[in-house]
Parts: sequence; C-alpha cells; structure tokens
Amino acid sequence: MKLLSAIVPCYNEEENVPFFYEEFTKNEAFFKEKEIEWELIYVDDGSKDGTAAEVKKLHEKDERVHLLSFSRNFGKEAAIYAGLNRAKGDYVVIMDSDLQDPPSLLPEMISYMEQGYDSVATRRVNRKGEPPVRSFFARMFYRLMRKISKTEIMDGARDYRMMTRQMADAILEMKEYNRFTKGIFGWVGFQTKWLEFENIERKRGETKWSFWKLLLYSIDGITAFSTVPLSFAAVMGVLFCVLAFVLIVFIVIRTLIFGDPVSGWPSLVCIISLISGVQLFCLGIVGQYLAKTYMEVKKRPIYLVKEEI
Ligand code: UDP
Ligand code: MG
Repeated sequence: MKLLSAIVPCYNEEENVPFFYEEFTKNEAFFKEKEIEWELIYVDDGSKDGTAAEVKKLHEKDERVHLLSFSRNFGKEAAIYAGLNRAKGDYVVIMDSDLQDPPSLLPEMISYMEQGYDSVATRRVNRKGEPPVRSFFARMFYRLMRKISKTEIMDGARDYRMMTRQMADAILEMKEYNRFTKGIFGWVGFQTKWLEFENIERKRGETKWSFWKLLLYSIDGITAFSTVPLSFAAVMGVLFCVLAFVLIVFIVIRTLIFGDPVSGWPSLVCIISLISGVQLFCLGIVGQYLAKTYMEVKKRPIYLVKEEI
C-alpha cells in the first residue's frame, strides 16, 4: 500500500473546503484499484471565516481529513512548507482549494509517478478569464526570470504538483524564509513530467492575490533566484563612467577650440537628475537584497501552528 498526501492551502475558503473534498474523493475507485491510501491535509492559513470549522466537520465524517491551522496569515508559501512538513505520504501533491487545480488529473499523475518520474507538474496553456493587465505582467515576469535566473521557471506553471517522498524531503531541506516555490521546484531538479491543461476559472469565493501582492511576490522570486540585478547596478556604474569620460574629452576639446562661453545650466540639471535617479535606483536594488538578507539572518520560523487535527 502506498500513501498519497494531498496538501491544500486555504485562506478564507469556507465555501470551497467541502466541494474540494467531494471532487477529490471522486477518485476513490481509482485509488482503491491502485491500492493507494490517502490523507488530505487542509492548511488553514489564518482564515478569518469558517474554514477551520468546515474542515473539522469533514474530519468527523472522514478521519483521513486533517487540519493544520496557523496562528495568523503566513501566506501560501508558508502553508505549502507546513503541509510538506506534516505530510507522511510516499507521494505528495500540492493543490489549490478553489478547484483551479482539477483533482481529475490525479489518476494520470499517479500513473506517471508509477512509470518512475520523480515529479509530475502542471502548467496551464492559457490564462483565459484573467484580467489582461495581470496576464501581461505575469508574462513579462516569466520572460525576465528566464533571462536572469539559471533556475528553470516555467511560464504558466502552477503549484499543482505531485512528487516523491525524496523530492519533498529535498524541498524541506530548503529552509529559506523568502520562499518562491516555483523556483524551489526547479532548483531541486529531479525528473519532471509536465502536464498541460486549459485554465479553469475559480467558481466560488475570490482570488486572494491582489496586483500589489503579486508584485511583491515577483520581487521575492527575483531576489531569491537571481543576483543579476546586483550586477546590473555595477554595469550601469561602468557605463556612466565611460559616458562621463567621453563627455570630459568632448568638453575639453570644445573649450580649447571655441573658448568657454558660460552656458549649459539646463543640460547640467538634466544630467544631475538622470544620474541621481540611476544612483537611487541602483541603491534600491541593493536595498532589496539587503532587506531579504536581513529577514533570512533573523531565522524566524516560517509559520506558527495554532491547532492540529
Ligand atoms: N492561499 C493561502 N494563503 C494566502 C493566499 C492564498 O493559503 O495568503 C491559498 C488559497 O486559499 C488558494 C490558493 O492559495 O487555495 C491559491 O490562491 P488563489 O486561488 O486566490 O490564487 P489564484 O488562483 O487567483 O492565483
Ligand atoms: Mg485560484
């Protein structure tokens, strides 16, 4: 008998908890046939609604349902980490509670795992139903990441992924505070099979990710998996030094030929504004890395558990 652990991060998802259970257990016949036992771990990420109560109701009906409740909202990344920590399965799968990660894919995933893959990952091939501005920035982000990071990060990749115990343990080895799971999956490696599916819109409740939250998350992703922005600051410095040198030569020669009429105040202001802008921008980049480093060295716990069932 193999054990499958499903980790479901939930933040204010009371309406989705029972529906998710319903959809998940539709695979029961398949699990039986394959001799797979399962445990369902709902990680309640500090919800303010009745999410925990809904999970408790399910637990009373079915002992294979577990609850891990945080003391406050720590974010989806922390919920994934906590779930992985708690999961005991030979196979571990991470799924959203809003059914945007269809449980109907589980049989296919398991059959690939049985073929010997270490991990089966999913990506959506389109972003139907998403605000166009959000899609645009998401695409830009992935294009940028592909250029500046050595770690493979797939456009449209979801966190919906099944993996072996071995890979889950590898991910748990990465105890960093600023977690960017999509990068961590790529970083640990292992042989991965990619499944593709059409985007499914969330049916109940609303998205927990505002544009601002996503923007901050993308900065987390960049600083966690690339140091190119830091080199960018150095390259800008060199470029401006070269430019300054050329200007000095130009001005000396011009003065020797045409004398020195007093002018150039507006151009001076422009140059000073431009260069101080670039300087502040580069200082900001360094500041971002410093801030992330600061949070890392504090070694705060990634999450705090209030209740476990
Ligand atoms: N989520 C979470 N903590 C958060 C935000 C989201 O656990 O701080 C969960 C949420 O309940 C859902 C999953 O992460 O199960 C994905 O969130 P959502 O569906 O809102 O994101 P989207 O699909 O819009 O990207
Ligand atoms: Mg969703």
